[in-house]
Amino acid sequence: MTLMANKKYIGIDIGGTKVYGIVFQNGEIIEELRQKTPTNNWEEFLTNFVTSLKKDHNILGIGIAVAGALDETKSFVEKTPNIKNIIGVNFKKLLEDKFKIETKLENDANCFAWGEYLYGNGKGMKTVAVITLGTGLGTGLILDNKLFSGSFGSAPEGGHNIVRAGGVKCRCGAKGCWEQYASSQFFLRQMGNNPATVFQKAKDGNKQALKLWKFYGYWVGIGLATIGNMFEPEGIVIGGSIVRAWDFFAKDMENTFRKTVFSPIASKKIKILRAKLGIKAAAIGAARLF
Ligand SMILES: [Zn+2]
Repeated sequence: MTLMANKKYIGIDIGGTKVYGIVFQNGEIIEELRQKTPTNNWEEFLTNFVTSLKKDHNILGIGIAVAGALDETKSFVEKTPNIKNIIGVNFKKLLEDKFKIETKLENDANCFAWGEYLYGNGKGMKTVAVITLGTGLGTGLILDNKLFSGSFGSAPEGGHNIVRAGGVKCRCGAKGCWEQYASSQFFLRQMGNNPATVFQKAKDGNKQALKLWKFYGYWVGIGLATIGNMFEPEGIVIGGSIVRAWDFFAKDMENTFRKTVFSPIASKKIKILRAKLGIKAAAIGAARLF
């Protein structure tokens, strides 16, 4: 993959509210485009989006990061709770037919992980787990320098590991998923506010908010311990919008992780780090799928 690093690639991150695209060359973003996520006409939207981004660049590949589970051929989204009318739209065929440029789709958390591994705080580690804390809880894994996506392309989905049997019902239908305890769903349920509001309240010294962040840290740490036990990565890199409140939950998260993970050496050596690339990580990872 490093051989291709000096060539130009497009990376597009399709999220629930925004679509963010880049032209990436030699480790640098040379073009950027942000638009509101459409609610229909995906074919037209994406054709126009790529046309404006591409301009007169000679593009060798288009990588698309998308929030959702992909079909086995990684051509379209098969399941997603938060993007309208996207299911079944064959992006790979559409863009390859239209632009004659090889196109790859990958789950957004996997792309985020790949971006952090190549250019962010996972750099230099052979095995690294990356999680994103936001509306949902995304997980990505680099195993022995390779992006791991399971046998059929849809793993890992650590956000839907059960951390509390018979617990809160998740959007996926199961009960007690980690996502329900370690994403914004937790704050909405516990305090009726989104994490940004609870963050502000904590900064203002609100006791209930401060306590909730500590409790949140505990739940994040519980899930991290499972990841530590399964893969013993050199590091776990944590991103997503909720990490802005890092100082209010990181200590409890880390303490819980270190107390809960089984192996003493894993407890001692696994690094817990905050992600470096912010919202650009998934688009960068997508551009570097080639
Ligand atoms: Zn779930």
